[in-house]
Amino acid sequence: MANLKQQRSMSSYDVAVIGSGPGGYVAAIRCAQLGMKTAIIEKYGTLGGTCLNVGCIPSKALLDSSHHYEDAIKHFEEHGIEIPGEIKVNLKQMIARKQGVVDTTTKGIQFLMDKNKIDVYEGVGSFKDATHITIKKTKGKAENIEAKYSIIATGSKPATLPFISLDKERVITSTEALKLTEIPKHMIIIGGGVIGLELGQVYKRLGAEVTVVEYMDRIIPSMDAGLSKELMRSMKKQKVKFALSHKVKSVARNGKKVTVIADNKKGEEVQFEGDYCLVAVGRSAYTEGLNLEAAGVKLEDRGRIAVNDHLQTNVSNIYAIGDVIKGAMLAHKAEEEGTVVAERLAGQQPHINYNLIPGVVYTWPEVAAVGKTEEELKESGIAYKVGQFPMRALGRSRASMDIDGFVKILADEKTDEVLGVHMIGARCADLISEGVTAMEFRASAEDIARMSHAHPTYSEAVKEAALAATADRALHI
Ligand code: FAD
Ligand code: NAD
Repeated sequence: MANLKQQRSMSSYDVAVIGSGPGGYVAAIRCAQLGMKTAIIEKYGTLGGTCLNVGCIPSKALLDSSHHYEDAIKHFEEHGIEIPGEIKVNLKQMIARKQGVVDTTTKGIQFLMDKNKIDVYEGVGSFKDATHITIKKTKGKAENIEAKYSIIATGSKPATLPFISLDKERVITSTEALKLTEIPKHMIIIGGGVIGLELGQVYKRLGAEVTVVEYMDRIIPSMDAGLSKELMRSMKKQKVKFALSHKVKSVARNGKKVTVIADNKKGEEVQFEGDYCLVAVGRSAYTEGLNLEAAGVKLEDRGRIAVNDHLQTNVSNIYAIGDVIKGAMLAHKAEEEGTVVAERLAGQQPHINYNLIPGVVYTWPEVAAVGKTEEELKESGIAYKVGQFPMRALGRSRASMDIDGFVKILADEKTDEVLGVHMIGARCADLISEGVTAMEFRASAEDIARMSHAHPTYSEAVKEAALAATADRALHI
């Protein structure tokens, strides 16, 4: 690690952050900004954690590259663009470009650590007691530091199923799927959640056959059911195959062949044969190596670090944030928590509204949501009204030929306050921030409906959905 200090005059810190993902590095920057002497400990040779190295950034880089390829082979001709000769995928170059993006981004974090005068330690951080941490390096002697406060931000690792043996060649997790050396002939994906659908779409676009085997009766089961339905409809048009309500019970590899066996809803055995199996059934908190017992830090039942509303563990000077604690496993959630803990340590009173952490699936069409789903509102007995507007009715969507999807706004039946915004379509990952802003300011659907939205933009669908929620007065449908 470039700025790893070989000789340190001081090994005593106000704050030590363990883990340099979006939770940890943001916490470290904010602590340093607030005048605390800060150290960050990372076991890998690059900073940035799962998100920058093997998560958000590389997956989006491959989604972008594969999207360009799909456009070139499927849509250019209609746009009047002719490319003589065959358009081919150069997977090696695609993976190399992705790695270049990752390298630039992780170096950027190194720059931010230097800029903020944060000491970076490379090695596994392990508690000796509540105020002392040993850093075990891959090479060289272990180092000890003292920290008045610690922030555990050690993230998560891919979860698997008890009967699966991940060989990381053909039976793989997202980490390996981001650096394959060949395009699979048939990729069987266990889990129709975010990872399965994003990476499934990458390889489908590149020419693989893709089958998603999902345990629940719909894909992206934690999102609004309307989004699940529309995304599945759209991905089926792209020829992705789905086996819903299938409980996988065995995965076997034989040479280049992988066989997945599942029980369907009727209890019948169904067999899937492919050459790769991506296991994408969630992620679990990562606490190995921390030696939490020495500090007295307790876990809760799912192996995550137990924290109170202030993100403080049962040991008062040790905090935990991000994927290693309860809540959505999202980079921006981890970042908010990093900021909040730093500000609390500085004596401030920040807070996070967890209801307003948006969720995004970066398939195309993109899926994005904030606030309550219709299912959640029904379950809690809140009377609500719905305004929905289809993307196909927008001039902007027709111009780009991105006509799949809709925006749905859920508002309180009596007060008109926006309770949830759910959208699927082009650029929804960016559009959702309008929903977050509106809800943060407790806007009514009518507030959104009365705001001017530039024409022609995809954002007009938000205005129209708000109009539809406000006495059913959408203009363009
Ligand atoms: P992490 O990013 O996991 O970082 C933890 C760090 O701690 C790691 O670098 C690890 O090496 C280090 N560490 C662990 N133990 C120790 C120790 N004892 N000592 C020293 N270091 C240690 N989220 C989004 O919001 N948007 C996305 O588009 C998105 N895409 C994703 C795509 C994929 C394929 C995956 C796998 C995840 C994606 N996520 C996405 C989730 C996101 O990556 C995580 O929510 C986020 O990285 C969590 O941040 P964190 O700081 O809690 O932990
Ligand atoms: P996930 O929780 O999104 O999806 C896992 C899916 O696997 C679920 O639909 C679940 O029903 C299914 N499943 C579980 N057991 C199964 C079984 N035995 N057989 C068949 N299906 C089974 O998890 P993920 O896709 O692995 O992603 C992990 C985490 O990473 C998520 O929490 C997500 O927030 C984060 N992530 C976020 C993004 C993003 O924000 N765009 C992208 C990738 C990952």
